[in-house]
Formats: sequence, structure tokens, C-alpha cells
Amino acid sequence: MDIYDSLVTIVGKDGVSNSQEELFLYSRDSGAQQPRKVDYVVMPETVEQVQKVLLIANKEKIPITPLGGGFTLSALVVPNKGGIVMDMKRMDKIIEVNEINRYAVVEAGVSQAALQSYLVKNHPNLQHSTPEAPPTVTVVGNALIQGHGHISPRYGMNSDMINGMEVVLPTGEICKIGSCSVSPYWFTRGPLPDLPGLFIGWFGTTGIVTKLSIKLYPKPKYRDVMAFVTDDIDSITKAVFEANQLDLLEDFFLISQEKPDWMNHVFFVIIVSGHFEDEIELKKKAYKKLFREFGEGGRMEFVEDLHPALRKRFLDVPPLAALAADFRKGGGFEYTGAILPIDKVPEAWRKGIEIAHKYGMICSYVHQVLMGNSIMFGFNYSFNRADEEDVEKTRKALDESNRFTFEIGGMVWKGEVGAQKMAMEKMDPNTAALIKRVKGLLDPNGIMNPGNWEPVT
Ligand SMILES: Cc1cc2nc3c(=O)[nH]c(=O)nc-3n(C[C@H](O)[C@H](O)[C@H](O)COP(=O)(O)OP(=O)(O)OC[C@H]3O[C@@H](n4cnc5c(N)ncnc54)[C@H](O)[C@@H]3O)c2cc1C
Repeated sequence: MDIYDSLVTIVGKDGVSNSQEELFLYSRDSGAQQPRKVDYVVMPETVEQVQKVLLIANKEKIPITPLGGGFTLSALVVPNKGGIVMDMKRMDKIIEVNEINRYAVVEAGVSQAALQSYLVKNHPNLQHSTPEAPPTVTVVGNALIQGHGHISPRYGMNSDMINGMEVVLPTGEICKIGSCSVSPYWFTRGPLPDLPGLFIGWFGTTGIVTKLSIKLYPKPKYRDVMAFVTDDIDSITKAVFEANQLDLLEDFFLISQEKPDWMNHVFFVIIVSGHFEDEIELKKKAYKKLFREFGEGGRMEFVEDLHPALRKRFLDVPPLAALAADFRKGGGFEYTGAILPIDKVPEAWRKGIEIAHKYGMICSYVHQVLMGNSIMFGFNYSFNRADEEDVEKTRKALDESNRFTFEIGGMVWKGEVGAQKMAMEKMDPNTAALIKRVKGLLDPNGIMNPGNWEPVT
């Protein structure tokens, strides 16, 4: 049997495609990277089907790339060496929500919006950390790429919220990881050797996660938003430090954009939440006092009359701060998600403006402060998809932003292959060798999303 027929035997005719029209869609994402070739798309419905497809791919040495929502923008789901894209969207069951122990077990295709609406309907007192991303992105894909959501400044990266998973290894074994390997409860990843790390941040190069348990958190009854504004870029570091020291916030991001003129300032957006109205008022008072004292001499102002449309945008879950970006005709949007030490923000801010101007773009920023010790610093670029010159300029701007991020001691989050190469070049050689060994052990035939996290030879 040829490969197509074998795949049809496993997942049925409706679950496989090699038609040019469908392969076209899977050969690109909505970011600025070049399209690449795909040979087959497979949509399994069960873990056994995933296992069988992997066994064939491993035997025939066919590359295989897992795909959730496909929205990293950095072409992580576009194969580098052809082969099969395994689209997980048909595995879309919310298997369990354990209210008392506050976790949800979901299949790999469950979207952020599906989990969010399920919780609103059935467990209104609980919430999960929701990324500021299109609603179709998957809970599993996001946790695996070390994403962050609207409560990350308070509770940590979404990957830290993983309690355990079911994963199919490239060689076909189905493994349970975390407490679910020894207990019916998917409630914790330890105390055990911390195996989830073998699959988090690896971009699908070590196995296919079919189920995952994610922590849930109390959903506060009241939320409010406050904004402060400054033009003093050098004050950002101290202001972020002080706001974190106060330790009363739910979410915290910085936005700015050169046009329209009213946005050409540094806005600090703080979301406070709580179970009592008094609690909210107290928190708001505390931040007003902090920023008033901090801003003495006119450096920092409280935005008294935040427009209702902006209030709504910031209070939505997910917040829609990215809409601040300057979207061009053609709708392309990309960013380098630099994870930076907070004291590097002013330097990065100035460099971002320089890079944007060099390529004829308007500078726009959305940064989320993460747990007080780092920031996701988004160098945002918008482009016209239909204009190849514009797309090429964006690729160059991203490349410069990535390089600069590493130069100042930061890391590129969910980086495209070029950014991964920069990381591998900078990396301690023994660490790079360890990555190679781990990949070799788990994936002896190198079939899993090849081209990603490849050691520089
Ligand atoms: C406008 C915009 C704003 C965004 N803002 C945020 C934000 O604030 N916070 C945030 O965290 N993200 C943000 N993102 C990124 C987006 O959330 C990520 O794309 C998403 O979280 C990843 O999920 P996905 O389903 O798209 O994964 P995919 O892009 O499908 O996959 C990501 C990686 O994981 C691998 N993978 C996927 N599923 C599996 C699996 N089951 N097993 C093994 N490997 C797998 C893929 O091969 C790929 O390497 C934003 C994106 C956009 C477009």
C-alpha cells in the first residue's frame, strides 16, 4: 500500500488529504515566513490513530509535524522537510473538569474558546489562563510553547500550569506523565522525575501530546482596569518593579504606538480583580498612590477618562491589546516575542523604534509583564501579505529584532527556525549536545518536526 492508502486505513478517507488545495493551506501560516511543502494532512480522532500514524511515519522515515491552531506566526507548524502535518483539531473533547482539585483534562485539539465557554457554562467560579490570541488556538499548543495568559503575571507561564499529559512517542509508545501515571487524578506533575519538560518548548520534536491537564484558578467576581501614562522611557524599569512589589495585580501590560499621536506615549495598563468591591477599590487606591508618588515631577499621570471602548478592550478575556497594533492593508501581523529581563526594556524600546523606522514601519508595542521578573517584549510589525517586498522587509526586521534580543541577554519566545539557530549558536555547547542526545533518544529516526531545535554543526 502506498502512504496515502495506509493513512486512509487508519483515519478514514475524511481524515486524510493530499489534494493540492488543502496542502496549499497547510504549507503556510499567517506570519511572514516563506511557504514550505506539505505531502499529506492527517486528522486523527483517537490516541490509537495517532499511534498508528506515528508507527508508519517512523518505519517509513516520513517527517511529521503536529498542528494545533497553527497561530504562533513563526511557521512552527509548517514542515521544513515535507511529510505529514498531523492536525489535532478532531481530538476536541474536554475530558474532565475536576472542580475541587481545580484542573481540566483536555484533548490536543481543544481551543482556548471551547474551554473558556465550557467553564463559563459549567464551572463559573473557575478560569484558565487565556492567551491574548485568536480563540482557535489550542490549550495544548499554547501550554507546550510556554505561552502566557491573562493571569500569568499573577500565576506564571501557562506551561507552569501543566499537571501532566498523555503523549505518543515517535516510536509509538503511549506514555502517561505526571500524577496520572500512578493515580486516576491528573492533579500534579510531582513529586516525580519532571518528565513534562521533555515535551514543553520542543516544538513537537519529541512526541505528540494527545491529552493534557491544565490548572484552573478562582474566577474573581470583580475586575477593573487602570491606565497610567508617561513619556519617560527610562522610568519603565523602576515603575514595573514598584508595581510588581505592590503585588496586587491580575494582569499588567505596556502598550504604545507612534500613530495616532494620542497613543505615542508609554501606557501602563493594570488589571485588578477581587471577590469584593471594597477589595477592588483598595487595590485601585494603592496603585494610584504608588504611581502618584512615583510620578512626582510630572513623569507619570493617571488616565482619568479611559474611553469605554478601551476599557472593554482591556477587560475582555482575552484582552485585545494587540488591536493597538498598526494593521496595514493586507492584514499581515508578526512580532518577535522577546522574553527580556525588565532592566533591558528601555534599551529594547529605543532599538525597536530604530528597526521599525529602518524598514519604513510604524512602531507599535504590546508587552506583558510576567511574574515580576521578566517581560514579553513584543517587537510588532505589520505588513501587506500581497506585497512580497513588504513581507521581505518584515522578515528582515524580525531577524534584526531576534539578533538584538539575544545580544542584550534575552530569549526569543516561539522563535522561527532562524531564531532557534541563533539560540543554538549562543548556547553552552554541552547544553546543545544534551538537546541533540534527548532528541536522538526519543526520536531515533529524526521524524518529528525536523529542522526545529537542530544543533548547529
Ligand atoms: C495576534 C496574536 C496574539 C497572540 N498573543 C499571545 C499571547 O498573548 N500569549 C500567548 O501565549 N500566545 C499568544 N499568541 C500566540 C498563540 O497563542 C500561539 O500560537 C498559540 O498559543 C499556540 O497554540 P496553537 O494551537 O496555535 O499551536 P500551534 O501553532 O499549532 O503549535 C505550536 C507548536 O507546538 C507544536 N504542537 C502543537 N500541538 C502539539 C501537540 N499536540 N503535541 C506536540 N506538539 C504540538 C507544533 O508543532 C508547534 O511547534 C498570539 C498569536 C497571535 C496571532
